[in-house]
Amino acid sequence: MTDAEIDHFDVLIIGAGVNGAGVFRDLCAQGVKCLIVDKGDFGSGTSAAPSRLIHGGLKYLETGELRLVAESTYERNLLLKNAAHLVRPLPTAIPILSWGKGVTAALRTLLGSTTAPRSRGALLVKAGLAMYDFYGARARQMPKHRMVGARRARAEIPALTPRIKALGTYYDATVTAPERLVLELIQDGLKASPGSEAMNWCTVMGQSQGVVSVGPEGGENRRIKPRIVINAAGPWIDRVNAVLGLDSRYIGGTKGSHVLLDHPELLRQLNGRMLYFEADDGRILLVLPFQGKALVGSTDIPSDEPDRVACTDDETTYFLQSLRDLLPGLAFSRDQIVYAYAGIRPLPNSDGVAPGLISRDHSAPTDPATGGRPFPVTSLIGGKWTTFRAFSAQVTDAVLDDLGVPRLRQTDDMPIGGGRDMPRSEEARTAWIDAAVRTTGARSERLAILLDRYGTTAHDIARHEGVDPVELVDAPDFTESELDWILRNERVVHLSDILLRRTPLGISGQLTPRLCRRVASISAEVLNWTSARELSELADLSTLLAERHGLHLDFG
Ligand SMILES: Cc1cc2nc3c(=O)[nH]c(=O)nc-3n(C[C@H](O)[C@H](O)[C@H](O)COP(=O)(O)OP(=O)(O)OC[C@H]3O[C@@H](n4cnc5c(N)ncnc54)[C@H](O)[C@@H]3O)c2cc1C
Repeated sequence: MTDAEIDHFDVLIIGAGVNGAGVFRDLCAQGVKCLIVDKGDFGSGTSAAPSRLIHGGLKYLETGELRLVAESTYERNLLLKNAAHLVRPLPTAIPILSWGKGVTAALRTLLGSTTAPRSRGALLVKAGLAMYDFYGARARQMPKHRMVGARRARAEIPALTPRIKALGTYYDATVTAPERLVLELIQDGLKASPGSEAMNWCTVMGQSQGVVSVGPEGGENRRIKPRIVINAAGPWIDRVNAVLGLDSRYIGGTKGSHVLLDHPELLRQLNGRMLYFEADDGRILLVLPFQGKALVGSTDIPSDEPDRVACTDDETTYFLQSLRDLLPGLAFSRDQIVYAYAGIRPLPNSDGVAPGLISRDHSAPTDPATGGRPFPVTSLIGGKWTTFRAFSAQVTDAVLDDLGVPRLRQTDDMPIGGGRDMPRSEEARTAWIDAAVRTTGARSERLAILLDRYGTTAHDIARHEGVDPVELVDAPDFTESELDWILRNERVVHLSDILLRRTPLGISGQLTPRLCRRVASISAEVLNWTSARELSELADLSTLLAERHGLHLDFG
C-alpha cells in the first residue's frame, strides 16, 4: 500500500449520533480536519430514540447530581436560543398523589443508596421544583414553576385520577426533530472546515499499523490515517473498540421504548403540556403532544442489543396500564398506537445499580496509543441528548490540546442549521415571512409551515418549491418538491433516511403504502435508482417498520 492511497485526517470520529456530530462541528469550527463516519444514517442510533426532551433533568436532583442539573438546564437554555427552530419550550405538569411521601427514600438516595423505592409527595416535588428554578436561572428563557391543589388540577385535566392531591407545573423543552438537528450539526461542520468529510452508511472495518479501513455501503473501502480517534459509537462503543484492537467494558446500556398514540381526546386534555408522572412501580413516565400524536415513554431495561432493539408487547401493556391508572377518565387501547421505537442508552457499566439510578453524566476516557495502534482512542460514554454541546466542548478541548491547536471559537452562542437568524418574536416572525413571500413567491401559510419545520432554511426550500407545489399523497402538509430539495441537499442514501429522519412522516404515523411508493419513486428519480433498487428499498423499509416500529404496511 502506498501512502498516496491513504487519506490523512487529524481526527477520525466513529459514530454520527448527537455526540459524534457535536464533536465534529466543534472541531471543524476550530479548523481541524476531521472525518466522521456512521455505519447507518446520521443520527439513526440512540439519538433517534430519545423522549425528545431537552431538559435539566428534574429527577437527577434526587440522586444529588447537581453538577449535571446545572449543566443540563444551561444547555437547555442555550438550545432554546441556538436551535429555536427545533427546540421549543414545553410546559410540564407533575401530578402528585400524596403530600409527604418519599422524603425518607429521597434522603436515602441522596446518601448513596442505589435501590431506594421511588415515590414523590408534594413537599418533595415542591422542593425539587424550587431547586430546578434556581439551577435554570443561568441564561433563563422560561417562567418559574407553580403548584395548584386537587380542585384546580382536575379542572385543568378532568380525566386525572381522583387520587390527585396537587399538580406542579414547570418548564422544560422538547426537540421536534432530533435526527434533523444531528444532520444540521454535521452540515455546519462541513461548511466550517472544507477539508473535513462526513460519510453515512460507512462502517469501520478494522485497524492495522495506524491505518483504519472504513467501508462505505456500495463503494470502495477507504484507508484512513488519523492522529486521534474519537469513538462516539454510543451503545456500540465496546464493539468499535474491539474492531480497533482494544478490549473495553465501558458500556452497560439500558433499553428504553416509546409509543405514539393517535388519541385526540388525550391531546385535548394535555393542552400542549407534558405530563411527567409516576407509574405504580415508582418509575417516571411521560406523555406529551408530539407531531399531532401523543408520545408515551419510556422504560429502562438492561440490554446489549442495539442492532435489534424494539418496543415489546410487555412494554406496551405497561404504558397503557400506567396511562389508565393516571387518567381513568380516558380509554386506552393498542389500536391507538401508530408507531413505536426503542433505543439503548449508552450508560456507563454500573453493576448492581438499579437502571433508573445509573448516572446520566458523561465521561470520556482515553486509551493511549500503543505500538500496534499509534493513535489514542477517546470513548464518549453516557450523557444526554441535552448536554451534547458541553460534552463536545470538553472533548474538543482535550483534542485541541493534543494537536497543539488553539480554540478559535466557543460554541455556547453558535446557532445550529436553520436556527441561524431564526425570528423569535411574533413581529419578527411575521416580518421574516413577509420578506420571504417577496423573495420566493411562496404563500405565507406555506412559509409558516416550512419555517416551523426547517427554521430559516425554509427560504431555500420555498424557493425550490415555487408558487404552486404538488402536495404529497396522504400527507398534504408536505410537497413533492420539498422532498426533492431534501434528496438533493441532505445526503439521503436510503428510503428510510428520508421517511424516518429527514422528515417526521414515519413518527407522526402518516406512512401509507401509497405515500411510501410515491416517495420511493421521487427518490429513484433524484438518486438514479434502478427499478430493482426502488423495489428493494421498499422491501427493506417494510421489514424495518415491522421489526423496529410495530408498523405493518403492505406494499403488495
Ligand atoms: C429511551 C431513551 C430516552 C432518552 N430520552 C432522552 C431525553 O429525553 N433527553 C435527553 O437529553 N436524552 C435522552 N436520552 C439519551 C440520549 O438519547 C443519548 O444520550 C444520546 O442520544 C447518545 O448519543 P450518542 O451520539 O452517544 O450515541 P448514538 O446516537 O447511538 O450514536 C452512535 C452512532 O454510532 C454508530 N456506529 C455504531 N457502530 C459503528 C461502526 N462500527 N462504524 C461506524 N459507526 C458506528 C451508530 O450507527 C450510531 O449512529 C434518551 C435515551 C433513550 C435510549
